[in-house]
Amino acid sequence: MQLAIAALKIAFTLLVALGEALCWIGLGAVQLTLLTLDAVQARRRLSGGGLHCDEGHPVSPEGSWECSACRFRWRGLVWQCPNPSCHALTPFVFCPVCRRSVRNPYVLEGHHVRPTS
Ligand SMILES: [Zn+2]
Ligand SMILES: [Zn+2]
Repeated sequence: MQLAIAALKIAFTLLVALGEALCWIGLGAVQLTLLTLDAVQARRRLSGGGLHCDEGHPVSPEGSWECSACRFRWRGLVWQCPNPSCHALTPFVFCPVCRRSVRNPYVLEGHHVRPTS
């Protein structure tokens, strides 16, 4: 009888561990799928080699910019501050025509680095 109880306990522990492992694998798969979908959606904005807003206006990431975190000014791509002690990422830019926000296609969900003020 004692042996049967011990065996049952081991079986139960294994079952719980297995259930937990399945849960973690499931969660991992969901996270990975969401991240992949987000990446696909972000890259779609770069259709035709250029960036476009929801209304289809071309949005140029090139220009003269000032970093809102460190006040560094530069000319080129808006996406990352070239100041080596800052490197703040720009999460989105405004469309020059309709002022809608266009997200940075290189920044994915959950991987933002917010510029610190
Ligand atoms: Zn900066
Ligand atoms: Zn627009």
